Amino acid sequence: MNIAKIKQDYDIFVRDDTLVYLDSCATSLTPRPVVAKILEYYNSYNANVARGAYRNSTKATREYELSRKSVANFIYADSSDEIVFTSGTTASLNTIAYGLLNSIKKTHNIVTTAMEHHANFVPWQQLSIKTGAEFRVAPIEKDGTINIDKLLGNIDENTKILALTFVSNVLGTINPIAEIIQKVRKKNPNTLVIIDAAQAVSHLLVDVQKLDCDYLAFSMHKLFGPTGVGILYGKKEKLELLEPLFTGGEMIEEVTDTCTTFREVPQKLEAGTPNIAGVTASREAIDYINSFLFREIRMHEKELMQYCIDSFQKEFGNALKIYGPKDINKRSGAISFTFKNHHPHDIATILDDKMNIAIRAGQHCAMPLHTDVLGVNATARVSFSVYNEKKDIDKLIEGLKEVEKILL
Ligand code: PMP
Repeated sequence: MNIAKIKQDYDIFVRDDTLVYLDSCATSLTPRPVVAKILEYYNSYNANVARGAYRNSTKATREYELSRKSVANFIYADSSDEIVFTSGTTASLNTIAYGLLNSIKKTHNIVTTAMEHHANFVPWQQLSIKTGAEFRVAPIEKDGTINIDKLLGNIDENTKILALTFVSNVLGTINPIAEIIQKVRKKNPNTLVIIDAAQAVSHLLVDVQKLDCDYLAFSMHKLFGPTGVGILYGKKEKLELLEPLFTGGEMIEEVTDTCTTFREVPQKLEAGTPNIAGVTASREAIDYINSFLFREIRMHEKELMQYCIDSFQKEFGNALKIYGPKDINKRSGAISFTFKNHHPHDIATILDDKMNIAIRAGQHCAMPLHTDVLGVNATARVSFSVYNEKKDIDKLIEGLKEVEKILL
């Protein structure tokens, strides 16, 4: 990959060529065509969708629906009717959790794992509190992977939901989703399997038909797209199971004083005016990632991960502890670490202040994972994308040496 050329796609690097951005797990940077598409909407055909009878509204609706098609193609969905636009992964997962409220009984259980982001943990925990269903948190192994047998041990004839992340935003672990789903289906074909693909979509090819998941959620802002756009994929009949979290304009068929009938999915789950510019620009983001091969993206990130892990080991030895799988074939995107007993927030602040390096520090919205499994209050996290290069890691090492000098 020609990183110098790739960086030219991003105005943020053109404006500040000293920036080292190592926080793509939080949000990826936005290439110029995506920003241009947002501006194009506001500057040339600004109108609401699905309601106007005039040309700009027709154009806005067409652009909006083309994005739905593009997302469907990107994840190999059966049809664009299986794609619901939300505001993000969090909104998608909450839409599913709320939508299933009346399908869950006291006798059911809901299974998730100890490596989940709060967005794929709290909605299920709250659903179990509301319904009386048992909430089961499957443990993970010391090396940050899932033991499939132990996970399956939590699935029984009463398991209604399994909610699982594809890639951990803290450990970087890539879970063998297809294999897990196949085994879960054998044990209980009625379990609804929900996949949080927020950290997977920009690194791995995601094919919902091959995975055979019932629902899948992700955010466009982690995929070179705008903030405020989320995707909720569901098999058509599984989307139909969901009661709408929001009711109001555009999702109705008929309203009287006493009752309302809803439109078919996906419109049933898209009440109100959506993020038209964001959805429209999402198509550009997908075109952008499609200008790379996933094989190429993966090779690049593996190279960076290996270089980063080797450099950490060479420069700091046991003073720097990395969490998650040692084998880079089992991980993607994120490398979380602790460095001596320095607080991750201090590390991040010094790296920013001295070197213009952006990393994440804290619990990365995964408190149970940090406190119950890793046994630390917080970690520092670096994460990579197509615009990162080995030079960024060299600067990170230099920055961590500064941290050592300042914090002693
Ligand atoms: N799940 C995972 C694995 C994530 O990394 C994130 C974002 N950090 C989310 C869910 C939530 O995404 P959003 O904030 O875009 O809703």
